[in-house]
Amino acid sequence: MSQLEQVFEQFAIMGGNHIRLTGGEPLLNPSLFEIIRYAISIKIASITIQTNAVLLDREMILKLRQLDLPGLKLQISLDGANPESHDYVRGQGSYHAVTAALDLLFQEHMSGQVIVHFTEMQHNLSEFPELLELAEKYRLAGVSAGTLITGGRAAGLELCKVPDSYRYLELIENFRRDSSFRRRYVAFGNMDALQWYLGELPVDMHCRLGRDTYLTTDGRLYPCVLCHCDLYAVNSVHEKGFLRAFQEGGELWMPLLESIRKRSVLLEKCLACQVSAGCLGGCAGRALAVYGTIWSTDDRCDYRQHIYRKHLIQKNYLNKTKR
Ligand code: SF4
Ligand code: SF4
Repeated sequence: MSQLEQVFEQFAIMGGNHIRLTGGEPLLNPSLFEIIRYAISIKIASITIQTNAVLLDREMILKLRQLDLPGLKLQISLDGANPESHDYVRGQGSYHAVTAALDLLFQEHMSGQVIVHFTEMQHNLSEFPELLELAEKYRLAGVSAGTLITGGRAAGLELCKVPDSYRYLELIENFRRDSSFRRRYVAFGNMDALQWYLGELPVDMHCRLGRDTYLTTDGRLYPCVLCHCDLYAVNSVHEKGFLRAFQEGGELWMPLLESIRKRSVLLEKCLACQVSAGCLGGCAGRALAVYGTIWSTDDRCDYRQHIYRKHLIQKNYLNKTKR
C-alpha cells in the first residue's frame, strides 16, 4: 500500500469523505488514476481535481468519465473572460487551453462536473458576469471566486492587485441593476463579496480550521490551506500515520481556534467597527498569509466594511439603529 493510500484509508476511517487533489498540476501525476480508484474503492464519495486544463484532451476526459464517480469535480482556473486577462496571469495560450478543454468536456457530457475558479483581481473583477455567461453556455456545475492572496508568483506581477473597494462596489451596482447577472449568479456563482451584499453569513463565520486540513507531499499537515505556517504544522505524517498526526494537530489547533474566535473583540479596529457582529474579524488564515500574523484584520477588511454597510443601508438597518 502506498503512503497516500494509507493516508486515504485512515482519513476514510475517521469519516473523511472529500479529497481535493492540488498541485503543481495533478494531471501530471502518473499514478493519478490509481490513486482515485483506490479512493473510490474505500468509499470516498467526493474528489476534486484542481487543474489548469492544459492536459485535458479527449483521451484524458474519457478516462475521467470511465471512473463513473458522480462526486468527481474538475476545478479549472480561469482568471478572466478573454485571453488578455487570463494569459497575463497564467501565461500565453492558457486561455485557449481552457476553452478548448471546456468544448471537449461539453461534447463528452462532463461539463456538469466542472467548476471554474476565478481569482478576483483589480484588472479582471468586472469580467465575472461574463464567466457566468460561459457557465451557462457550457452548463457547468458553477463558478467559484476567491480574492487574490498577494504572495508567491502574484507578488511579482505588476497588474496582479487585490481589487479595491471601488471595483467591488461597481460590481455590486452592476449586480443590482442587471437581472441576467443576478439570475446567472443564483444558478452558477459563488463570490464572497456578493454573498456579503446579499446578507449571507461570511465564510469566516463558518471557519473550518482543523476540518479542511491541508497535507503536503512531504508529509506536513496544516489546519487549513491558508494557515500555512510551520508553527501550526504537524510534521512526519507518513511516519506517524494520518490518524495520529490528526490527533496531534487537534491539540495544536484548538488553542489557535480559540484565539481566532477572540479576534473581533481584541482587535482595536474591529472593536470600533459598525459591522463587527456580522464579520467577527475576517479570515485569520488570510491575515496570516498576507501580514504574517492572525492578530491583524485580514486584507479584505476595508471593502467588506463598505459592502456590509451597503447591505445594511439597503435593508434600512443602519438608519433604524441610529434613531
Ligand atoms: S482561517 Fe480562513 S481560510 Fe482557514 S478555514 Fe478559517 S475561514 Fe477558512
Ligand atoms: S470589517 Fe474589518 S474591522 Fe470590521 S469586524 Fe471585519 S475585520 Fe474587523
